[in-house]
Amino acid sequence: MLEISVQLVDEASKRPKPEDENNLVFGTVFSDHMFVMNYAEDKGWHDARIVPYQDIVLDPAAMILHYGQGIFEGLKAYRCADGRIHLFRPEKNCERFNRSAKRLCMPEVDPDFQIKALEQLLRIDADWIPRSKGTSLYIRPTMFATEPALGVRPAKEYIYYIITSPVGPYYPEGFNPVKIYVTDEFVRAVRGGVGEAKTVGNYAASLYAAEIAKKKGYTQVLWLDAVERKYVEEVGTMNIFFRVDDELITPPLTGSILPGVTRDSVIQLAKQWGVRVKERPITIDEVIQGIKDGRLQECFGTGTAAVISPVGELCYKDENYVINDGKVGEWSKRFYDEIVGIQYGEKDDPFGWIREVKV
Ligand SMILES: *Cc1c(COP(=O)(O)O)cnc(C)c1O
Repeated sequence: MLEISVQLVDEASKRPKPEDENNLVFGTVFSDHMFVMNYAEDKGWHDARIVPYQDIVLDPAAMILHYGQGIFEGLKAYRCADGRIHLFRPEKNCERFNRSAKRLCMPEVDPDFQIKALEQLLRIDADWIPRSKGTSLYIRPTMFATEPALGVRPAKEYIYYIITSPVGPYYPEGFNPVKIYVTDEFVRAVRGGVGEAKTVGNYAASLYAAEIAKKKGYTQVLWLDAVERKYVEEVGTMNIFFRVDDELITPPLTGSILPGVTRDSVIQLAKQWGVRVKERPITIDEVIQGIKDGRLQECFGTGTAAVISPVGELCYKDENYVINDGKVGEWSKRFYDEIVGIQYGEKDDPFGWIREVKV
């Protein structure tokens, strides 16, 4: 495995720690150090290093800026009440990172090395993992094409880095349902495209519809399939679940949906609890009909940032449909409490999801 060199920030250049851990705006404060390494076709990955958080200098012809070969991951480090540091299923993020890399014709990064680099960075910046309840250190592994060349083909040079950002509780005002706008005009991804990769362009492509939804007073967009505009796919940057007749339903991973780690965790928990779970296509018409006749009991999104995001209202074709009286559902709450409990070491971890980082 590559050696990792370490250059620590000097005392005078240390970044100020957030004053109020509970009121951090997501992704705006960054820790003192970052992990970086470079790739060249003839050398492979090299120059693995932990250095003070700093700018990246790019040639204006760097291929990421023109052809979008860029991917990332998102996970968190959690501080338990007794001070221990937990990662939640980090190997899943490493695997997904490599699947995204492959789809974008980018080099893969050894999963064991990704975790080793991350753990070393976390040990150095351990003080940046906040301590208040519900807070965490958000981790953003990123890779993009740095080779300066114009011409559409896979680049021969890349940078891989990991930055971390302390974040406050996702629900500072309590666990509240959100209002969602169903778009049948814009689409996020299509089967055979890059929807199942965590690649930068997917997010640029989602902004326009999200802005329209926000202007209308909704938090996020619910995406339908790109071909028929009929099947539910995802909600914002989260996977989506429905509880219908006491069965849990989520769309199957057929190529246009991002395979979420939280999605997989909810499915495994549901099975362990004896809840019937189906990964099957569900149409927006079935959802609306289910709300109308009360068979659809709950709807929620899943993702690392929020864990569970209950949906209290859907707007489809200019009609509003309230779900579960706009209240948090029983299952949403139970999944949230269980996953958060495991992450912070307050509940048993029967699936071996936790990886403790020893400082
Ligand atoms: C990251 C992401 C998710 C959620 O994945 P998690 O691994 O659960 O955080 C879902 N949908 C999209 C589009 C995403 O980018």
